[in-house]
Amino acid sequence: MHCPFCSAEDTKVIDSRLVAEGDQVRRRRECMSCRERFTTYELAELLMPRVIKNNGIREPFDEAKLRAGLLRALEKRPVSTEQIESAIAQIKHYLQATGEREIKSLIIGERVMQALRSLDEVAYVRFASVYRRFKDLNEFRQEIDRLEKKEPS
Ligand SMILES: [Zn+2]
Repeated sequence: MHCPFCSAEDTKVIDSRLVAEGDQVRRRRECMSCRERFTTYELAELLMPRVIKNNGIREPFDEAKLRAGLLRALEKRPVSTEQIESAIAQIKHYLQATGEREIKSLIIGERVMQALRSLDEVAYVRFASVYRRFKDLNEFRQEIDRLEKKEPS
């Protein structure tokens, strides 16, 4: 990090502490050249990638939409709010961890299906049938077979 006073490259951290409830690191630095001190803040960049829809349109990631989709599939199913929130957090974590700036909605759909599969089979089938828009039951069954081969539970 360059010194903002003399632009020297050699600065040293003299103090480092967590701020903003641990979301930021505040560092006091000292320039080894002019001895001026300054403060920097470090913040983990965890942006959600934008979503590429099937028709190519890009839109911001919409957590409310993700939650609504899960809740619809899980309607009247014995799954707690806590489990649902945990699944949403895991999906978001996955999307952030990809480091991609844009991600296909298809990939999010696959993650949702995986999450539902481990939460509740009925909800999984509900979601998959709407999501995949299967033409007939046979096609649906094939898809389930495919998923089961890919990710044995
Ligand atoms: Zn300096």
